[in-house]
Amino acid sequence: MLVFKFGGASVKDSNGVKNLLNIINTFKDNIIIVVSALGKTTNKLEEILNLSIENIEQGKEKFELLKAYHFDIVKDLFSDLNNQLYKELKSEFANLNDELFEKKHDSYDLKYDQIVSFGEIFSTLIVSAFLNSKQLTNKWVDIRKVFITDDTFRNAKIDMNLTKTKADASFDFKNDKTYLTQGFIGGFKNGLATTLGREGSDYTAAVLANLLNAEKVIVWKDVDGILNADPQYFEATEKLDRVSYQEAVELAYFGAKVIHPKTIKPLHNKNIPLYVRSFINPEGTGTEIGCFKQYDKDIPVFVLKKDQMLISLFPKDLSFAIEDELSKVFKYLSEHRINVNLIQNSAISISLCIDNANRKSKQLIERFKEDYKVLYNDQLELLTIRHYSDQAIEKVTKGRKIYIEQRSRHTAHFVIK
Ligand code: ASP
Ligand code: MG
Repeated sequence: MLVFKFGGASVKDSNGVKNLLNIINTFKDNIIIVVSALGKTTNKLEEILNLSIENIEQGKEKFELLKAYHFDIVKDLFSDLNNQLYKELKSEFANLNDELFEKKHDSYDLKYDQIVSFGEIFSTLIVSAFLNSKQLTNKWVDIRKVFITDDTFRNAKIDMNLTKTKADASFDFKNDKTYLTQGFIGGFKNGLATTLGREGSDYTAAVLANLLNAEKVIVWKDVDGILNADPQYFEATEKLDRVSYQEAVELAYFGAKVIHPKTIKPLHNKNIPLYVRSFINPEGTGTEIGCFKQYDKDIPVFVLKKDQMLISLFPKDLSFAIEDELSKVFKYLSEHRINVNLIQNSAISISLCIDNANRKSKQLIERFKEDYKVLYNDQLELLTIRHYSDQAIEKVTKGRKIYIEQRSRHTAHFVIK
């Protein structure tokens, strides 16, 4: 059994959905297809949600636009305007309208998940109906009833035991050989929808593969595979053919956007390979992420994380009992739900490089100021070079101001402006 994941970019219009059909048709295997919301729908839903609180009129306008975007795609895909899909989609949009503009919710995060989860419901209803209409018979599964999570809305944790039982029952491959379901979302036991964190569909695919012992996962992207650098910022990029799980985690953690960092663990645990392949060029071999011992290229890999903030903390009395101070620093970080990308300490200071999450970072700095003298810089970049060479470093740091530099055997990090 194979698990495929198609992200928003692959299904942003009717041609994308048709292309998905063509790709699936080239496989004879049992397949679970995990689909994200169409195009930029999740961003749109976030925007409409905020407008539903701040500016209802504008929220309703944007809601109509999002609805029209979906129905335009449906009109391209189906000629029969009375089919079942129209009715279902209409009724789901009516539900979304209620959640947005009628219902009262206990908290913002809870409301967020009820709203934003509709994106994947819409997309999968459309894709599933289209495949069925083209003789690619598939069963639509409501993953909110399979991925049972806690109630940490917007970052829900999956209850793996419960979910395993539900997944075995829902994807049994007895009568059906193709299943289609939503990425990114789950459900709390009281029936509320939850989400697993932005860009979480890769993770959904990985968890399904783990629980159901898939042979492999293929994530279909708009790039040929994992490249040694983001072509948006670096010239002359090269595709990597094979990447180890460890390498993939490092790359994802330090900002490579191709795969979500959480994706690797469930696959590594069961030794299931992950392929990153192009939906634009589906014949390409892509990149295989798996249990490889060695890096098989002699080129460096560059990863850039933008919008970084470097915070330096100086204890007011110069006494630095480092263990105690570090645990306090990490406690504050976790209370503010902020991840540290890089840390450096000296006898009299600790420096932390974090993603600048404006409001949250400001609050964190205020908290630090109660105990420390605080200095900070923002609008920095964290540049990571795996398998670096002096030449590679020279090339990308030349003429730039380096705030922190760290090197280990295979990896060099630079916080730069
Ligand atoms: N649609 C969700 C998002 O845009 C999940 C995903 O695409 O993976 O964050
Ligand atoms: Mg998306």
